[in-house]
Amino acid sequence: MNSKIAIFLFGIFVSSFAYKSYENFKVYKVIPKSDVQIQILTDLRKNGSYDFWTDILTVNNEVRILVSPDQEVEFVKYLKSVDLTAEISIKNVQELIEAQLKPSASSKSSQLGSFTWNEYHNLARIHSWLDELQESFPNVVKTVVIGQSVEGHDIKGVIIDFKPGARGDKPLIGMLEGGIHAREWISPATVTWIIKEFLTSNDPDIRFMAETLVWHIFPVANPDGYMYTFTNDRMWRKNRNTANYVTCGNNIEIGNGIDLNRNFDFLWMSVGASSNPCDNTYAGPTPSSELETQAIINYVNQLRVSGNMIYYIAFHSWSQMILVPYSHATGVQVLEASNYADMYEIAIRGAAKLESVHGTQYTVGTSAEILYAVSGSSFDWVKGVADIPIVYLFELRDVGQFGFLLPAEQIIPNNEEVMAGLVEMEKTARGLGYYSGAGDVKSVLLFNLIALVFALLR
Ligand SMILES: [Zn+2]
Repeated sequence: MNSKIAIFLFGIFVSSFAYKSYENFKVYKVIPKSDVQIQILTDLRKNGSYDFWTDILTVNNEVRILVSPDQEVEFVKYLKSVDLTAEISIKNVQELIEAQLKPSASSKSSQLGSFTWNEYHNLARIHSWLDELQESFPNVVKTVVIGQSVEGHDIKGVIIDFKPGARGDKPLIGMLEGGIHAREWISPATVTWIIKEFLTSNDPDIRFMAETLVWHIFPVANPDGYMYTFTNDRMWRKNRNTANYVTCGNNIEIGNGIDLNRNFDFLWMSVGASSNPCDNTYAGPTPSSELETQAIINYVNQLRVSGNMIYYIAFHSWSQMILVPYSHATGVQVLEASNYADMYEIAIRGAAKLESVHGTQYTVGTSAEILYAVSGSSFDWVKGVADIPIVYLFELRDVGQFGFLLPAEQIIPNNEEVMAGLVEMEKTARGLGYYSGAGDVKSVLLFNLIALVFALLR
């Protein structure tokens, strides 16, 4: 055999084995009914043997667990023995992984330059498209690299400024973050869509939003992890830092990586984060230990002194929620965020508008109120330390039918509704006076007073 052919065939052999197969892996849905059952599930998760698609376990809330064919008999038997009922929600994960890699069959399509939203794109394609935009919109778009990942890949985004040099010394600024969790592919697909809308939409409200602020937009904040979901393991969540590796049962790989959205230095490791490298919510050895975290922190710090930074929005999946900071706060505690009532109202209006597009329902609240309490996330840090007025975390489609494996057909409808929601949120925030200073102080005080009264009455 010709040596070139041999190398080529070997390459196919290696690469076909490199991408982890999820053939006959199932996702089970379990609803714990008591603290005892929560403890049972928590113990089950230890050592990383099972991939919990639900991060935090709470009584009466669905927990989705990925189970390999080898584990299945034991898993079902064990749950039965502890009086937990498990229901299959995805019967073959590999089928969905393969289906998700196929371009959408829907007639809906949309294109900007060489880029489309009929399929999910890898990091190289997203980055080359950002370069292309700089060439196509030379007076508006500038690419920006805010740092390198632990494997040395660029954390790259675009600055969109329709009035360069004509904004005075305190330009209004917004920042969007996508792809901090590697397997949440709908996130970069949404953030790239927002870029397209800002650059090309004729809708007067989108034009206003795009042109009134300078936008700093980063589709993939965790480049190594995102690449890894295309090359090795579709279900990877964390970054690819291998410095804290420990062995975790049968799962060789899970002892690597840090959950970047638990690594930020705001109430770090206080709740809803793990100190165990085997966990998908491992917060890292110290706050802001990760290069990717540091890149965002440094950039936000730079933006807040260079202008009037109004917005920071992070995009995740799945659950269909608009989360308001702070993620640890419940009851009266929510008022620790000084303009909580404003943020809540802005999000409620955004969610209503979003629903009006395709009927998709989003819930609004703090993470602790509607999902689970967490700490060390980027958006909480942006609110709590950088003190940016309007900050959210979107949990995009769906509510678990496909979870991270949302079919490509849903990219465009998801994007359309999210864009409509964002436009409504921008209008509402503007109406509340956020562009004329640090928010309308009267409305902040009044709404917070009302919210306080309601919270106390509960
Ligand atoms: Zn996420």
